[in-house]
Amino acid sequence: MSASKKPEYLKNLAEETLAVHAARHLDPGAAVAPPIYQTATFRGFSTEDFAHRSQTPRHQAEAVLAALEGAESALLTASGMAAVTSTVLTLVNRGDHIVAQTNHYGGTYSLLNNFLPRFGVESTQVDQRDTAAFERALKPNTKLIIVESPSNPVMRLTDLRAVAKLAKARGITTLMDGTFATPLNQRPLEMGLDLVFHSATKYFGGHSDLIAGVVMGPAARLEKIWSTHSILGGCLAPFDAWLVLRGLRTLPIRVRQHNENALAVARFLEKHPKVDKVHYPGLQSHPQHDLAKKQMSGFGGMLSFEAKGGEDAANRFLSRVHLASRAPSLGGVETLVVHAALNFSHYLSAEAAAEIGITPGLVRVSVGLENSRDLIADFDQALG
Ligand code: PLP
Repeated sequence: MSASKKPEYLKNLAEETLAVHAARHLDPGAAVAPPIYQTATFRGFSTEDFAHRSQTPRHQAEAVLAALEGAESALLTASGMAAVTSTVLTLVNRGDHIVAQTNHYGGTYSLLNNFLPRFGVESTQVDQRDTAAFERALKPNTKLIIVESPSNPVMRLTDLRAVAKLAKARGITTLMDGTFATPLNQRPLEMGLDLVFHSATKYFGGHSDLIAGVVMGPAARLEKIWSTHSILGGCLAPFDAWLVLRGLRTLPIRVRQHNENALAVARFLEKHPKVDKVHYPGLQSHPQHDLAKKQMSGFGGMLSFEAKGGEDAANRFLSRVHLASRAPSLGGVETLVVHAALNFSHYLSAEAAAEIGITPGLVRVSVGLENSRDLIADFDQALG
């Protein structure tokens, strides 16, 4: 875990510069790319020896992540799910209550609905678009509010400042899943939330070749989460940490291009006669576009659309598209497409899926870094 003390020259640098240099001071070695310590443990005969451990690529990746997120401290974990489970299990006890959203990543949904109740932790899940619903759901034993914005797969938004404010006034901890937006597009801690986690498997790694997660926030809280993640076995392996660090070098420029490509694809789809609806917070037609502009500096690479003609039309598109792979996950250089209802079917009934906006014709797209003109031409022929 890193709660890095920043050298003077790192203050007031732009994100692109931080992504490249924010951890260089932690590695005094000559190698430009830091060496991987492929070891399960380190020898330590003195305090200084143990301090040397803060020079591993994992600690360097944590320092870069904390710098980009504006967090005091960061903890890398073995997956995004290890980040959220370690954090939630640190924060709640038997008899506590959580307020969360109806729309969450499937693993978070299962944690709340299938796992935590076995240990005496109940939750109420509300429509994230209605801030008053968060307030109405609070109980005297509410310890935690979990939010995710934009949320999977219909890109609904939570008013982050408003939720942070109502939680703070009552001493309730707030935890945010920031995976879709990344700190380049949205800074939850600056809006008053206490902790933010991400699946680093997605944009941070950026190449669909690693599984990792990260939780960020105040150092004192992260100390406790560190203990839980060790107990649960959520520690990240050295090579994956090194890959995260490498991915982070290009994160700001990748995210900028993801934003640009997704907006271009969303605008194209919105006008297409074979498309009923496009869900992308960067479109003026998005019902929460004004909120998106207030709390996001870019709108991300994720979108979904409803193919006219329902499931058959969606499947026709998915089987005809050439430049997008039909796969779950997101945030890599390559465009991925998935039939949303099928993707969610292992934990949501068709009725529950319909209630949170997942229609039979819904296709989720993780827009990659291909040229957007090529993507649009390919989508056009696939919809054809
Ligand atoms: N949060 C979101 C929004 C996700 O999309 C995912 C994975 O798809 C996760 C969390 C979980 O991350 P991981 O797959 O790294 O465990």
